[in-house]
Amino acid sequence: MTHARAFPIVIAAPSGAGKTSLAQELVRRHDDVVFSISATTRAPRLGERDGIDYFFIDETEFTRLIEADELVEWATVHGCRYGTLRREVAAAFALGRTVVLDIDVQGARQVRQRMPEAVLAFVLPPSGAELIRRLEGRATESAAQRASRLAAAAGELSALEEFDYVVVNDDFDAAVAALEAIITAESCRVARHAGLRQTAAELAAELRQLIQRSR
Ligand code: 5GP
Repeated sequence: MTHARAFPIVIAAPSGAGKTSLAQELVRRHDDVVFSISATTRAPRLGERDGIDYFFIDETEFTRLIEADELVEWATVHGCRYGTLRREVAAAFALGRTVVLDIDVQGARQVRQRMPEAVLAFVLPPSGAELIRRLEGRATESAAQRASRLAAAAGELSALEEFDYVVVNDDFDAAVAALEAIITAESCRVARHAGLRQTAAELAAELRQLIQRSR
């Protein structure tokens, strides 16, 4: 039977909407979904591990990655640089796996241009008040950083219409289920299946044989 070609799914959202938890849960639940570990110049937060959450690198190394064309996309977000490594995406594709890109809106736009096969999903918080509550509950950023993320959220929302899908992260399990449904539907797209003509021809031949035998 035919298998869909591997494709990237971009999950973007304002900070605090829960996209990283959603991306991690998708990967945890599905062996055929992998996470693209980004490179960043941001310092690791408590509990973050190099090579698992991010590849934590310095400015010089980040510039080298750009110049060597080793990034699919990159952007400056909240004063630090973040980028998707070509080798992360290529490794997932080589294994035929769906690759999740947890990136910002600027990065999503670049992916749209450079990888037209990508699927873009935008995660919304159920309300502004809930977004603020979640951000404040994180305690991973200072008050000034939280304020800057909230200000950025308003701008990011204006990109919503550039995305293919929207998922409201009110109930976490329902939001994961929606993302799973998106991946399932996208992998059923005729255009994602190479050799479909061959599969259809083989099925038709098998049917003809069965009809002949039953006569
Ligand atoms: P954080 O510092 O909270 O981990 O991430 C800050 C923002 O940068 C989030 O919106 C996150 O999705 C985004 N980000 C993480 N990795 C990448 C990347 O590789 N490229 C881009 N463009 N944004 C990224």
